[in-house]
Amino acid sequence: MEIKVTEIPREGLFFEIAQERGYLEWGRERFPFLGALKGWLRLQMMGSRLIVRGEIHATLLLPCSRCLKEFPYKVDVEFMDEYLPAEALEGRDEVEISSEEAGISFYEDVVDLENLYMEKVYLSLPMKPLCSDECKGLCPYCGVDLNVESCNCHLREVNSRWEALKRVKEGLLKK
Ligand SMILES: [Zn+2]
Ligand SMILES: [Zn+2]
Repeated sequence: MEIKVTEIPREGLFFEIAQERGYLEWGRERFPFLGALKGWLRLQMMGSRLIVRGEIHATLLLPCSRCLKEFPYKVDVEFMDEYLPAEALEGRDEVEISSEEAGISFYEDVVDLENLYMEKVYLSLPMKPLCSDECKGLCPYCGVDLNVESCNCHLREVNSRWEALKRVKEGLLKK
C-alpha cells in the first residue's frame, strides 16, 4: 500500500497490519512466513519530518546456519524512525551530509508501507540463524546431521592429531 506524504493529515495515519502472506522477499532472499504477520504502523508529520512508529509480529521459517534445516523463528519488532524529505538532499554532494544526518533515512513523495515493515522484519533477522544453541551442525567431513546421526570422522581427526603430536614428541626426544 502506497501513501502520499502530502496527504498525511495533522493527526497522523494509523494502519493495522494483518497479512496472510507467503514469503518475506528481500533482495535475493526469500523466507516463508508461518501464519499471519500482525502489527500496526503510525505515520505522523513533524514539520517536514516523517515519523514512523510501529510493531510487527510474525513467524518465519529460516534455515539453520549449522545444520541447514528450516526452523520457526519468531520476530517481534518495535520501532520508531525518522525520515527527512529527499529534497533536503538536492543540490548537495553526498560528502556534505553531516554525520548527524548519516543515520537518517529519506522519503520520496510516496511511501510504500509494505516495503517499510518488510524491511523491519528483514533487518531483525539474525545473521547466522540457529535452530538451537546446542545445534551440532553437519559433520564437515562426511556431511551427516550430527543432531540425528553420529559418525566417526571426529575420532579420525583426534587420532591424526595425536599421531602428529606423537611424531613431534619423538622428533624432540631424538635430539
Ligand atoms: Zn541446526
Ligand atoms: Zn562425519
